[in-house]
Amino acid sequence: MPGAHLPRPQRLALAIARDGARCFWCAHPFEHSLANASIDHLVPKLKGGPAWTENEVAACRTCNAKRGHLSPGLWLAECIQRGRAPSRELLVQRLLLLHAAINERGGQRRVE
Ligand SMILES: [Zn+2]
Repeated sequence: MPGAHLPRPQRLALAIARDGARCFWCAHPFEHSLANASIDHLVPKLKGGPAWTENEVAACRTCNAKRGHLSPGLWLAECIQRGRAPSRELLVQRLLLLHAAINERGGQRRVE
């Protein structure tokens, strides 16, 4: 599977190269270092999300911890409610790509 063999720092670098050097959820920039950056799964693994790069985004540790296992749609709504500025368009785009990858490779049936 794409990215499955990559170490975490490289997976994080891929997500940042794709989506920008900011938290996917609160849009806080990772300005000086990536110490506060972590890999978050769009669809939580617990809900059937695959460990593929298509399911990974860069999130700050605060968002990652606060989110828990909330679905991406519910967590996006909560971020907006908390006054953050996540991009709904980017999320929709990422989810479409994820679903395309799942349809292509199969094997994941529990993704919401
Ligand atoms: Zn954040």
